[in-house]
Amino acid sequence: MIAEAGFFILYLIYGLVFFLIGAAITSRDLSFSDLKVSRILWIFAMFAYVHGVNEWFVLFLNMNHQHMQGNLYAYLMTGQLLLLWLSFAFLFWFGLELLLLNRSHKRYGILIALSVALIILGPPVAALLLRNYGFFDLFLRNFVALPGAVISGWGLIHYGMTKEVHNRRGGKNLTFAGYAILLYGFFAGILPSGINLAGIPIELFRAVSALLILHCIMRALQIFDDERKHKIEESLKRFTQSEKMVSLGKLSAGIAHEINNPLSNVLLNVETMEKELRQSEKLDSRSQDRIDAIKRNLDRAAKIAGELLFFSHNREAELMPFNLNEVINKTFRLIGSRQELYDFKLELGEIPEIDGIPWKIEEVLLNLLMNAMEALQPGGVIEVTTGVDGDKLCCAVRDHGSGISEEDLRFVLDPFFTTKEPGKGTGLGLSICFGIMELHGGEISLSSTLGEGTTVRLLFPLPGGSVQ
Ligand code: ADP
Ligand code: MG
Repeated sequence: MIAEAGFFILYLIYGLVFFLIGAAITSRDLSFSDLKVSRILWIFAMFAYVHGVNEWFVLFLNMNHQHMQGNLYAYLMTGQLLLLWLSFAFLFWFGLELLLLNRSHKRYGILIALSVALIILGPPVAALLLRNYGFFDLFLRNFVALPGAVISGWGLIHYGMTKEVHNRRGGKNLTFAGYAILLYGFFAGILPSGINLAGIPIELFRAVSALLILHCIMRALQIFDDERKHKIEESLKRFTQSEKMVSLGKLSAGIAHEINNPLSNVLLNVETMEKELRQSEKLDSRSQDRIDAIKRNLDRAAKIAGELLFFSHNREAELMPFNLNEVINKTFRLIGSRQELYDFKLELGEIPEIDGIPWKIEEVLLNLLMNAMEALQPGGVIEVTTGVDGDKLCCAVRDHGSGISEEDLRFVLDPFFTTKEPGKGTGLGLSICFGIMELHGGEISLSSTLGEGTTVRLLFPLPGGSVQ
């Protein structure tokens, strides 16, 4: 009686833990996440749900088998084994997806075919060869659960250590979840059900390791909270930056407008004065030189005012398809002889065309290359790479120059922020780059370590989204 009650409670909790694992995953909205693992976690949740149902089914069968008539018990037992099979197949599938997360599925066709064959044929072939259908439960565990748990566990441990998970705490929790799955695999994948280990039923060991999985998975899921927080902070930062650019645009348009009127007035007066002096023959060559100098400077001032106006109005420019690699090559031609002073390394990948304004992108690249050259001693290395990263086109300009301090890094995109001597830097380069990238629906991000170098990444949206 006591044993029966213990069995009841054990299986009740065991099943419940798996339902909780499933619910912990499916109750979260992961649609916003860029982490690749978020796309396959539902498979692990399916494993947990189906396995939970399986455990309660075992409980039901054990409590009621005396009352069952005819072949009913045999049918239900077969149904329970099929459930177990299905749940472990989900675990195997999850592990396989984890392994293939960063690789193309097509190239791993054979691996997938072999896995499917092992999942479907492994247990029945083993039973047939050993002529022992009584151990079908064990064969399921050995051929499906064990490899499934090993690749899932190993995959999670490996994934937790990759750079895709930005914070260390999140990565660690994923790694722990991986170890917990390995432990579960040991108790549920190697040993048959119904035995005792050191006098303790194996099911208790399985239940405890399932509890451990639940704990680690719940903690690991916090990486998605951290990711969401990070994303909100990023977009707030971008928002304030673009607000700043808009105000700067308005300010410059206002100034340009205000300056243009008096400038035209002065020019008109100078020209009238010149005409009057010439008519009264009082215009000697010294006065003529002075008037010419005034006109030249007025011209220059008008030009600057015109450029300011252009800067604030250029947001409505038309986009056209172009190839970023061609623009990069063109920018290099523009740098001309300065190229020889530095060690430029170009790694231009196969990239599709994007929509944009090529001459503006040229301006961005020119700014980035100038900054990199200014941060380097002659002979220093500057790497420029392009490639497709998910649904974005990525271009990176990396230098091994002076780097930027953490303090300064927060301000480099601000207009007029410069660390260069007066006359050398205007502090407008990166903020213009920011404006141009925003115009293209793209992003610019900088990472830098003082004394080690700087990487600037440009991300452009691909037309039509992902090309995977
Ligand atoms: P400017 O070049 O006129 O100073 P920018 O907006 O182009 O203005 O850059 C702002 C500041 O960012 C620079 O003064 C410099 O301190 C820092 N910076 C930008 N790019 C780099 C780089 N590649 N290496 C080191 N510092 C950089
Ligand atoms: Mg600059």
